[in-house]
Amino acid sequence: MSTTVTSSLYQNLYPVLVDLHTHSISSGHGSTDTINDIARTAANAGLQILGISEHGPATSGSVKASYFRSLKLANRKRFHVSLLYGVELNIINTSGDVDLEDEVLSSLDYAIISIHPPTLTPNFYHDLTDTYTLAMNHPKVKFLGHIDDARFPVNFERLLNVAKEKGVYPEINNGSLMPDAYRVNGPENCRKILNICKEIELPVLLSSDSHGKKNVGNMQYIYPLLDECNFPPHLILNSYPEEIQRILSL
Ligand SMILES: [Zn+2]
Ligand SMILES: [Zn+2]
Repeated sequence: MSTTVTSSLYQNLYPVLVDLHTHSISSGHGSTDTINDIARTAANAGLQILGISEHGPATSGSVKASYFRSLKLANRKRFHVSLLYGVELNIINTSGDVDLEDEVLSSLDYAIISIHPPTLTPNFYHDLTDTYTLAMNHPKVKFLGHIDDARFPVNFERLLNVAKEKGVYPEINNGSLMPDAYRVNGPENCRKILNICKEIELPVLLSSDSHGKKNVGNMQYIYPLLDECNFPPHLILNSYPEEIQRILSL
């Protein structure tokens, strides 16, 4: 079977109508595409909701708090796609502090919490479950960003159970599964996350983590893992735009 046919079969089983993890030129690296460029591609890919989640200010070259404050004035509809404006926050210390103040966060639609080097130094032996748990207390935090990265280890079982209690959802990040991924142990850890989520009935968010328009809505490296884990389609948030709106209180 050709890759295209396989991909379209997966798209029937796990329709992706939403992508909430994307970056424009404003994130300062990886692309010169604007939000309009990304939205046009999202429309062509059949997305109903597109979320722009620029890196928080701790990422070198990304935008400052004032940019996020201004997003309340940005267009909510582009090329017939509904736009949401969030942030991919950096957790900046092991106490779970993040790089935007609550006052700015409250003006956004959602936040994804992530750990990136060099903001935190990779340490394969330091468990960061408690750090993520503390970071989940911030308002608007709804998603755990690429927790598959073995450079920043967590206890998946414990973290995912806490996330379920707090109404926070893990993402499965297509970028972590790409053949040239720079994160560590993506496939193995995403498999673990999916199996636990299946067991505890915790929905997951599929994310392209597209820098620019190139990979918007593209989950091609995630599909084989969903298949392998026999992951229930009803636990894929991307297929249920109304459920995402409910989670985000929109
Ligand atoms: Zn990230
Ligand atoms: Zn990202």
